[in-house]
Amino acid sequence: KGKRAFIAGVADDHGYGWAIAKSLAAAGAEILVGTWVPALNIFESSLRRGKFDESRILPDGSLMEITKVYPLDAVFDNPEDVPEDIKTNKRYAGSAKWTVQEVAESVKEDFGSIDILVHSLANGPEVTKPLLETSRKGYLAAISASSYSYVSLLKHFLPILNPGGASISLTYIASERIIPGYGGGMSSAKAALESDTRVLAFEAGRKRKVRVNTISAGPLRSRAAKAIGFIDMMIDYSTVNAPLEKELSAEEVGNAAAFLASPLASAITGTVLYVDNGLNAMGVGI
Ligand code: NAD
Repeated sequence: KGKRAFIAGVADDHGYGWAIAKSLAAAGAEILVGTWVPALNIFESSLRRGKFDESRILPDGSLMEITKVYPLDAVFDNPEDVPEDIKTNKRYAGSAKWTVQEVAESVKEDFGSIDILVHSLANGPEVTKPLLETSRKGYLAAISASSYSYVSLLKHFLPILNPGGASISLTYIASERIIPGYGGGMSSAKAALESDTRVLAFEAGRKRKVRVNTISAGPLRSRAAKAIGFIDMMIDYSTVNAPLEKELSAEEVGNAAAFLASPLASAITGTVLYVDNGLNAMGVGI
């Protein structure tokens, strides 16, 4: 029987979420995605108009099918959490049932269960500010969108994650080493995400035999990364300094995610897997 994956954080064909969807689809999984509400219209109309068709091509020549796109805002757990200004915001009012709990309920209604849960989203409104200049509000917003969003997703999807299933998130080495420019509390948010990966591996493992891992990915020119502002410099730095002197492709991260989600990784849980051309192992730049 084919597996079913829900990938939260896909809104175009440039990011890690899209690449993970493709690798899972190439391995035979059925693909459901969660798309940030404000980005939903553009994503769906681009999909419909064939704008992503070239990027949908799988190794066997067929096109990746996305069975269903769910609107999602992972900053809100249930309708009671949603403030009035968001509720009445035009971009939100056009969609329904996009809080984490409601999306999990909809997926359950539509499909019953899933086998793979992927969290490929982050947001830090003050990411361009140094930590010393980050406001409490900005810091907590980064943690809410980038760390707690994962706790909440796993909490709400765990009851419909089949035993033997897997959950994967994306992290960045700024959690453990100083990366000037990755500010606004985003480094703190990734540290929380990695710590939570271990605790959630224990809890989800004991509760549902579900594995929980995170991929510490190297730099990719995604929409989110471009917003940080230093992505080209980080890619150049990596190409010059990493053991493997090449640009990292999103597909390489997608393939690692497919491995982690597969039975080949049946004893791997609670880990941070580096998919970064080995840059994490370097002690100095050269
Ligand atoms: P991306 O822009 O493709 O993905 C981020 C997604 O998060 C977007 O689709 C955005 O719409 C969505 N999003 C933001 N706030 C949301 C919310 N409240 N609810 C639902 N969705 C929301 O960029 P990406 O770089 O591929 O990011 C995916 C993951 O990879 C992130 O966790 C990021 O931190 C991580 N990562 C990226 C890099 C890199 O260099 N690009 C490196 C390491 C880790």
